[in-house]
Amino acid sequence: MVDVHGVHKSFGPLHVLRGVDLTVHAGQVTVILGPSGSGKSTLLRTINHLEKVDGGWIGIDGELIGYRRSGDKLYELKEKDVLRQRTHIGFVFQNFHLFPHLTVLENLVEAPVAALRRPRGEAREIAHRLLERVGLAEKADAYPRQLSGGQQQRVAIARALALEPKVLLFDEPTSALDPELVGEVLDVIKDLARSGTTMIVVTHEIGFAREVADTVVFMDGGVVVEQGPPAAVLDAPRHERTRAFLSKVL
Ligand code: ATP
Ligand code: MG
Repeated sequence: MVDVHGVHKSFGPLHVLRGVDLTVHAGQVTVILGPSGSGKSTLLRTINHLEKVDGGWIGIDGELIGYRRSGDKLYELKEKDVLRQRTHIGFVFQNFHLFPHLTVLENLVEAPVAALRRPRGEAREIAHRLLERVGLAEKADAYPRQLSGGQQQRVAIARALALEPKVLLFDEPTSALDPELVGEVLDVIKDLARSGTTMIVVTHEIGFAREVADTVVFMDGGVVVEQGPPAAVLDAPRHERTRAFLSKVL
């Protein structure tokens, strides 16, 4: 379970997150919608501690992210402890971020070997299984530049899965893709949803949200304006700001 509690984040004078509360239950999919600049990416980045929060806290499966509590005080974790936590928080970016000099298989093997101390042979076996799962078994020895954008993104998802994440975060995973490649990536995410992977997905794909989300969250101005089941938020929004946003994107 992911617990975001009263999170604030500023960049200099810019107060981007203004008290965000969000609970994502294990095995559920939360889709975050909202206008550009509303703080969606910043929120995802605070969840894996790529950004430090200025107030509030984030917990995953009962473990505080980036801090430890002693009495009623919070102390920052050491870098190596932050990296250990981040290992189990998968992050899939808009622009794939694969290692260009490694093959597809090596992209999936390096992190588990380095971060989880998984024996290389075992890591390779798991990598092959994951590539099969995302429909790319035959691309194991290709380099990222030899793949389409949709294929690269499926590799990025498989790479995140190789670290056995407690939660997978997606930041607009299909918005850099040609339209005809969007479906294959969404299909992989749908398959993960069916198998009970806990996910937070920032996307503008409303059809996907309707079909896959357990909860749709609408963010604006650094706060959660409303959240609920897709049918409620998308078809009967209670807030004017949600209605205004949906009327532009639907
Ligand atoms: P988009 O839909 O365009 O991706 P978003 O909802 O993801 O938008 P964020 O990227 O979280 O929005 O940005 C929220 C605000 O914070 C923006 O005004 C942005 O310019 C600002 N911001 C984000 N990161 C930084 C940073 N590292 N330094 C300064 N300002 C930042
Ligand atoms: Mg963003």
